[in-house]
Amino acid sequence: MTNKDLILSLIQKSNSALSHQDLVQGIEKKINRVTIYRILDRLIGDGEVHKVIDIDGVSRYAACHQCEDYDHVHDHVHFSCTKCSAVTCLDNIQPSFKMPTNYKVEDVNFTISGVCPKCL
Ligand SMILES: [Zn+2]
Ligand SMILES: [Zn+2]
Ligand SMILES: [Zn+2]
Repeated sequence: MTNKDLILSLIQKSNSALSHQDLVQGIEKKINRVTIYRILDRLIGDGEVHKVIDIDGVSRYAACHQCEDYDHVHDHVHFSCTKCSAVTCLDNIQPSFKMPTNYKVEDVNFTISGVCPKCL
C-alpha cells in the first residue's frame, strides 16, 4: 500500500475529519510530516478529500463523496464538537445565502460548533 492509499483509507474510515496530528498518530509506519502535507494536497487535487477548518482554526481533512478532480462541490455544513472536538460533515445540510453582486465566491466554509450527539 502506498503512503497515499494509507492516508486516504484512514480519512475514509474515520467518521470525523482528521487533523495532521491525528494522521501522524494513526499511521503506524513513519512518514515525514512534509510528505503527509504533500499527499494531502494531492488528495485534495484529486477530489478525494476536502479541508475543514475547525473552531480552533486547525485544518482537518474529510473524505469527499461526490467531487470530481479540481472541482470540489462543498456547500455542506461542518459541525465542530466543543467537548470531544470531533468535526463531522453534515452532507445533507446546505445553508442558502445570497451574495451581493461583485463578489465572486471561491470557497465556502460553514462550521457550526456545539455538542455532538455522542457527547450530549
Ligand atoms: Zn471535495
Ligand atoms: Zn462530541
Ligand atoms: Zn465536509
